[in-house]
Amino acid sequence: MRFTDKVAIITGAASGIGLATAKRLGSEGARVVIADLDEEAAQTAAATVREVGAPDVLTSTCDVSKEVQVKNTVKDTLQKFGRLDIVVNNAGLMIFKPLEEHEESDWLNVLRVDLLGAFFFTKQAFLTMKAGGAIVNVSSVHAIETTPLVSSYAAAKAALLSLTRSAALEGKPKGIRVNAVLPGAIDTPMLWENPNVKSGQEVINPADVGKPEQVAATIAYLASDDATFVQGAMVRADGGRLSRL
Ligand code: NAP
Repeated sequence: MRFTDKVAIITGAASGIGLATAKRLGSEGARVVIADLDEEAAQTAAATVREVGAPDVLTSTCDVSKEVQVKNTVKDTLQKFGRLDIVVNNAGLMIFKPLEEHEESDWLNVLRVDLLGAFFFTKQAFLTMKAGGAIVNVSSVHAIETTPLVSSYAAAKAALLSLTRSAALEGKPKGIRVNAVLPGAIDTPMLWENPNVKSGQEVINPADVGKPEQVAATIAYLASDDATFVQGAMVRADGGRLSRL
């Protein structure tokens, strides 16, 4: 039970990797805050997180791209649980368009969710967390190598790695660790709704498709005291897909 007495906020936790992470941390003793856009989906997720043994679960309707909503989620967390130990910046948005069809608003929407959302939570965490806290940012292999039509997403996920490095440097004197995980192709709605995958333009070998629980296990490691000397790390969870020529 690595997370007994700890409190964890997980964004985008109503589905996919976020939900698997909420279940993993909850099953290891964390009190979990499910921060997601859709209150009904968050409530359904909360029930499954309780079922695996989480001692307590709070749902918080939160659009991570809105700083005021992020502040409210952190405030509600502190009000209910009196502490914040872990933040998993998992909520993500992907837009599929050729570069020449991308509008400024597309870029801003993706950057607001995938980059600024993590910044807003990091800022609140730095203002409220005690030494021993941990932040895990969910980036993507697209931060390193990418496919056509996802320029804004690839750029945002690369910038999230840069934010991870900066936050790790500034977090160290506060005793707060900041690390990133880079999932490959993971069996969640986001993967199968990907038009590149649907059209067959991006072919994924079934052996290269991981489960959300496998990414959640990596996130749980980075969030746990098993990783007390891991700071600013960028850990791929892609089954080795990125290594292949
Ligand atoms: P998912 O199943 O679609 O879950 C994402 C969750 O985030 C959904 O519940 C979604 O709510 C929520 N969300 C979206 N925008 C939000 C916002 N502004 N504020 C709060 N919540 C928001 O996706 P996933 O595959 O688990 O993805 C989780 C993370 O992993 C993302 O950052 C993604 O980029 C990254 N990732 C995924 C893969 C993959 O292959 N699946 C690979 C690499 C990286 P709605 O459903 O209501 O929109």
